Amino acid sequence: MLDTVKLGRRPGSMRTVERVVTAPRRIGLDMIAIEEGSEIDLDLRLEAVSEGVLVTGSVSADTVGECSRCLEPFSGSVDLSLTELFAYPDSATEETTDEDEIYRVEDDEIDLEPVIIDAVGLALPLQPLCSDDCQGLCPECGVRLAIAESGHGHDILDPRWAGLAAKFGVESDPSKNLVNNEAEEK
Ligand SMILES: [Zn+2]
Ligand SMILES: [Zn+2]
Repeated sequence: MLDTVKLGRRPGSMRTVERVVTAPRRIGLDMIAIEEGSEIDLDLRLEAVSEGVLVTGSVSADTVGECSRCLEPFSGSVDLSLTELFAYPDSATEETTDEDEIYRVEDDEIDLEPVIIDAVGLALPLQPLCSDDCQGLCPECGVRLAIAESGHGHDILDPRWAGLAAKFGVESDPSKNLVNNEAEEK
C-alpha cells in the first residue's frame, strides 16, 4: 500500500504525505472494515525529532460494515487522527521500550502501513450500528423491527402457565390451545 518514507535525521526536517492509496486488503475488524481496493486518504506530516520521526495527521476512508443489532449491511466512513513516534534505532526511546511497544525507523525509513492498520482497528467500533437508534431484531421472531409493522409484538405465554400447560399435556402453541378451547365450548 505504501512505500516506506525516507526522511533526513536532522531534527526539524519535515515532509508531508498527502495522497490517496488503495487498501491492499481488507483493513479493520470482523464486522466493519475498509474493503480491499477502496481508497484511503492520507494527510500526514512527518517530522524528525530527537528520538525519531513523529507522524501526525489524518487518515480517512469509506467503510463497509454489518450492523451488530439488525445484521443489515451498511456503509460509512472512518476518519481518524494519528500521532505516532517511530523511534530511531539508537534512541533512548528505542532502548527503553519493548520490541512491540513502539514503531521503529529502520534503515532511515518508516513503514506507515502497520500504523494505519493498527489505528483503523482501534478507531472502528467493535459493535457497529447502521444507525444510532437501530431497533435491531425482534427477540421473539427475529424480524427486523425497522421493517416490521408498527407495534410489532407477540403475546407470550407466561412461563408459569407454560409449565402448567406442559404438565397437563396441553401444547403451548397458542393456535392449538384455541382449537382445544373451541372443543370444550361445544
Ligand atoms: Zn441496524
Ligand atoms: Zn416478532
